[in-house]
Amino acid sequence: MRVCNLSSGSDGNLTYIECGETKVLIDDGLSLKETTKRLCLLGVSPVEINAVLVTHEHTDHIKGIDNLCSKYNIPVYVHKDGLISLKSKITKNIKIIPFDDFDFEIGNLGVQSFAIPHDVERCSGYNLYENNKKISILTDLGHTTTEIVNNLAGSTLVYLEANHDVNLLMNNPKYPYSLKKRILGNFGHLSNESSAKVIYQLLQNGTKQIVLSHLSKENNSPNTAYEQVVNYLQNRGVEEGVHIKIDVATTNPGAIFKL
Ligand SMILES: [Zn+2]
Ligand SMILES: [Zn+2]
Repeated sequence: MRVCNLSSGSDGNLTYIECGETKVLIDDGLSLKETTKRLCLLGVSPVEINAVLVTHEHTDHIKGIDNLCSKYNIPVYVHKDGLISLKSKITKNIKIIPFDDFDFEIGNLGVQSFAIPHDVERCSGYNLYENNKKISILTDLGHTTTEIVNNLAGSTLVYLEANHDVNLLMNNPKYPYSLKKRILGNFGHLSNESSAKVIYQLLQNGTKQIVLSHLSKENNSPNTAYEQVVNYLQNRGVEEGVHIKIDVATTNPGAIFKL
């Protein structure tokens, strides 16, 4: 399995997952030109992509889908509860395949989706499998539940939202109160501190690598997110680089993980 986040955050999300001959994207919130350029860094042409799995229909996750999927005839997979919302945002003739709550396969890749709390009809977190290898992606969620954390058990690599520092957000003069309320709410975005709490739990369940994802440009920075999470763990006897590895996804292509 080869995995690489090619862009993360409100400017556009794009993650590449390769499983033998099977090549899949999670979301595509970049332009066709930028998506093509970034895939090229991995030695991959868009023509090789077998599917795009959509988390939800917010623009930063689907902006590139129309052009990419119509040009290369790539099917788009979305949970059935998010189908109507996604269709309302798609203008080109592309193939959309709805899935339900059952696991399914795309080529060599096993796919399990689960609902995460965000301000849309359906936002999907994903567990992706190749034989006994498991990785997870979950961004755009207002809070976590025991069920969500349990879903991630055994995932060696987890892309997890660390959207904002609560103080930076609360004191940001550019954000109206209603927006702050939305982001901090149960269906908004996960703070650095909430993310750290989840990571501490994941540690007990076999996770070796975390990539902090979907950082706010305004209310966070890679250093802030990293330091807050690492400090939280350190205070509980967990050393970054020893017990767990923490990376940060940015708007630029990130590390390539081979599992
Ligand atoms: Zn988003
Ligand atoms: Zn969203």
